[in-house]
Amino acid sequence: MKTIKVSVVTPDGPVYESDVEMVSTKAQSGELGILPGHIPMVAPLAIGVVRLKKAGGKEPDLVAVSGGFLEVRPEKVTILAQAAEKAEDIDVERALRARERAEQRMKDQKAEHTDFRRAELALQRAINRLTVTGKQ
Ligand code: ATP
Repeated sequence: MKTIKVSVVTPDGPVYESDVEMVSTKAQSGELGILPGHIPMVAPLAIGVVRLKKAGGKEPDLVAVSGGFLEVRPEKVTILAQAAEKAEDIDVERALRARERAEQRMKDQKAEHTDFRRAELALQRAINRLTVTGKQ
């Protein structure tokens, strides 16, 4: 099967680079699957998991992405993320603490308050990281 180059890049530098058979992720418009030969496009990403299926690989590689953009060009897929972590780089204890903190803030705030929305996003990031590590 054909493959395409994928890189996941953040403001702190590259996080993931590989040749893969398929990339699937969560765009703001819904789930998105990219195969080699996909038409060029740019899509805003939601907080979600990027699944990278490698040739002959069993389980896909997983990367937690906290929003950003996906760009598909004929020879390459680039994910420009605000923050991104490979499963093995995620600090589970930190994500558990972040989840706890966010849940507490949401209890303490009214839903229309901007701090509520901020806590909601922090909660989504924490849950996403825990999902990638299989601890959710
Ligand atoms: P926290 O409150 O724990 O900082 P956060 O969701 O506010 O979580 P971000 O602002 O999304 O954190 O990320 C800041 C930096 O910390 C990024 O480089 C991100 O990759 C890294 N990071 C955040 N949480 C974790 C984690 N649980 N494990 C590893 N790296 C993390």
